[in-house]
Amino acid sequence: MNVKKLDRAALDSWVDSLIARQKVYGVQARGERFAFAPLARAEDLRLDYDVTILPPKKYFLPQTEDLVTFKRSGEYDSVLDDEPFVLLGVHPYDMVAVNQMDAIFSSDNYDVHYMTRRKNAAIVVCDVQNASPNVFAGCMGTATVKDGFDVLLTRIGDAWLVDARTEKGAGLLEGVSAPDAGEADLAAREKVWAENVEKLQRHKLNCAPSDIPDLLEKSYGHPVWEERAALCFSCGTCTNVCPTCYCFDVQDDVNWDVETGKRSRTWDSCQLKDFAIVAGDHNFRPNAADRFRHRYYRKGKYVADKIGQIACVGCGRCVTGCVAKIANPVEIYNRLMEDK
Ligand code: SF4
Ligand code: SF4
Repeated sequence: MNVKKLDRAALDSWVDSLIARQKVYGVQARGERFAFAPLARAEDLRLDYDVTILPPKKYFLPQTEDLVTFKRSGEYDSVLDDEPFVLLGVHPYDMVAVNQMDAIFSSDNYDVHYMTRRKNAAIVVCDVQNASPNVFAGCMGTATVKDGFDVLLTRIGDAWLVDARTEKGAGLLEGVSAPDAGEADLAAREKVWAENVEKLQRHKLNCAPSDIPDLLEKSYGHPVWEERAALCFSCGTCTNVCPTCYCFDVQDDVNWDVETGKRSRTWDSCQLKDFAIVAGDHNFRPNAADRFRHRYYRKGKYVADKIGQIACVGCGRCVTGCVAKIANPVEIYNRLMEDK
């Protein structure tokens, strides 16, 4: 599939044609910040955004969703959302996070709810134009992305290179008439990729991401967990905004007829005090320091041991979102490096 070169008017016309055909979610301004939301017209799309408030995971794992409806007789039906949609303007680091979620939700206990949405989605990735204040994707190897998506957009001067990577992506571009990108355009795209690795390092990690699991292995008793957690509000913001956090709580609700009901799930957070309460009211992570440390071990060791990648893509949302200013993973890992 050849890479096409479109001017902004042609790009807008393509986006409007997508909106006419199916549901499209795209990045739009929300005051001075940005969010993924249903897109009604191309002119609302902001591909120059720095970072969205919430990551695109909300389209695959919604904040709250019904899983099953059931009857007292024992009958039940899965609730599946299988409406096709296009997700427009996903940054590479968020795409890496979606790829990680795919690996997790498709293994062990295959999650039919997540995977049905994922299979019905077409994802258009957009290379970053403006670095957000706390991004460090360049340190995490996630400033660019190679797979998992359907179309890649890269801005080259006033033009856009549009690169269909899958049959689904080629389908999205059906009917688009544009010249193929030349060698100079492709070289310019390589330059954008190289520059973005440098540009997306607002915080500098003093080790390779692959060093993090061993670093954590040796740091369980480090004083940094108590020191930082002394300021933690246990609010859960750092996990809610994170593109790789996926913990949820499942609840059954019986209707007033006492004959029917539903099972639903809602985002949960390991930073909340009641997250680890089990039968008998035992809480196996009762202290803020235990919970604070757990977030880093989850991202830098437990998930890494499972899928072979650090579950932090360096989006910087937790750094921005934490009111106590203690959630920066780079500060923690660099401190552990200094003291190892
Ligand atoms: S831990 Fe923070 S920087 Fe890393 S992916 Fe999650 S929100 Fe982004
Ligand atoms: S680290 Fe920050 S964002 Fe996370 S729970 Fe504590 S206070 Fe909230």
